Amino acid sequence: MILVDPGLFIGTAADLNNRQALVDAAVTHVLSVDSVDPTLLLPADAGFRRKWVNVLDEVTSDLLSHMDDCFVFIQEAVSGGQAAVVHCQAGRSRSATIVIAYLMKKYQLGLSEAYHRLKSVKQDVQVNRGFEEQLSLYEAMQCEVDTSSPLYKQYRLTKITEKYPELQQVPREVFAIDPAHSSSPEVSYRCRKCRRTLFCGSSILSHPVGEGASAFGHKKSSNLTGDVQCTSYFIEPVQWMEQALLGVMNGQLLCPKCGSKLGSFNWCGDQCSCGRWVTPAFQLHRNRVDEIRQLNIQK
Ligand SMILES: [Zn+2]
Ligand SMILES: [Zn+2]
Repeated sequence: MILVDPGLFIGTAADLNNRQALVDAAVTHVLSVDSVDPTLLLPADAGFRRKWVNVLDEVTSDLLSHMDDCFVFIQEAVSGGQAAVVHCQAGRSRSATIVIAYLMKKYQLGLSEAYHRLKSVKQDVQVNRGFEEQLSLYEAMQCEVDTSSPLYKQYRLTKITEKYPELQQVPREVFAIDPAHSSSPEVSYRCRKCRRTLFCGSSILSHPVGEGASAFGHKKSSNLTGDVQCTSYFIEPVQWMEQALLGVMNGQLLCPKCGSKLGSFNWCGDQCSCGRWVTPAFQLHRNRVDEIRQLNIQK
C-alpha cells in the first residue's frame, strides 16, 4: 500500500489481507476496482466503508462512468480526516486509473501531469490503452462525466460497438427520444421531402474535420478539389431507427414517414466526406434534411 496523496493510498488485492495495516494507516474507506469479490479477502463486516467497481483489466472495460462516483467516495474519507485505499489485483492499471482521475479532478491537472505524479511514487503503474483514452476523455470533459455531452455519447456508442454483435439488441437507453413525439424548443432537423422531424441539434455528434482528399488515398483526388466538407450529419441513434438496426451491422436509414433514403449506419464505422472515420456511424445526408430553428418568443 502506497500513499499517493494526503488520505489516499493505492494498493493490491493482497493489501486487504492485512487488516491491522489498514487500521494503522487510518484507512476507513476501501474502494475495490476488481473483478474478484473483495469481501473474500476482507469481510464486509470488517468495519470499513466499501465500494466495489466490478471490472476486468481490459481495454473495453468502462471506468469513465465510475470516475465521479469514485471521487466522491475517496473525498468522503479525505474530508473526514481519514484515508481511503483504492486497489485492484496488482495496483497497476484499474486502481491507477481511478487514482489518476481523482488527482486530475482534485487538482485540476492534465492527464499526463496526474499520471506522472502517481508514477513518481509508484513506478510500475501501467494503465491500459482503453483506460488511458477514458482519462483523456475525462480531461476533455473538465473532469465531470456529463452523459448529455456529445463526447460521452460517442464514447458510449463505441463501448456498445465493442460488444457488438454479441449484443442481441441495442440497449434502449442509447436511442434518443423521437423528436416527432415531443416538443422540444431547440434546433431540430426534418425530412426535406415530407417535413417529418427526425432529430434534435443535441443529437449531433460532431467530429474534428478530417484531412480531405489525402485521407482518400484509394480514390482519384481529381474529383476532390481540396475543399474539405462534411456532407453528412453524424448523430446518435434515434428511436425511429430501432427497427432498421435490429440484428444487422449496417444498412440504410429511411425516413420513418415517407420512406425516402436519408443516409446509412454502420457499427464498424464509416468515413465522412471530410476524410474522418467515425465509429460507429449513423449518418444522414445534409441535402436530405432541413434545419429548423424555433423562434424564441418571450411571453
Ligand atoms: Zn466530416
Ligand atoms: Zn420523409
